[in-house]
Amino acid sequence: MPAYDDNNVFARILRGEIPCHKVYEDDRTLAFLDIMPRTRGHTLVIPKVKATGLADIEPDDLCHLMGVVQKLGPRITEALGADGFMIQQFNGAGAGQTVFHIHFHVIPRWADQPMRP
Ligand code: 5GP
Repeated sequence: MPAYDDNNVFARILRGEIPCHKVYEDDRTLAFLDIMPRTRGHTLVIPKVKATGLADIEPDDLCHLMGVVQKLGPRITEALGADGFMIQQFNGAGAGQTVFHIHFHVIPRWADQPMRP
């Protein structure tokens, strides 16, 4: 895993240097719409601490982050009239991670609609 890069795109969103469509914010977490949504309402949930992935986030920070994911998933699903939601989280370029600031994808799903790859 690369060292944390202060200029990764999510660090820049957290500093307000790149705009985002905010879904939720608290003192430790930001959630915003993915710029390339795989379904309508595809949301990214990130901590405000600097961590690249599961290997280097502190357990307490992960616990808070997961609490937000747990809260937002059902709320987004209900708000959009989706049938459920999917969570994705990638660690390492080989696993598909492209932004090296830990994030959870919250992806609403509709039973009759395919998901973009
Ligand atoms: P990963 O593959 O690292 O899990 O996913 C990174 C996600 O960040 C991708 O789904 C990508 O579309 C999203 N993303 C990349 N750059 C930006 C950006 O500038 N703004 C937003 N809102 N999402 C971004």
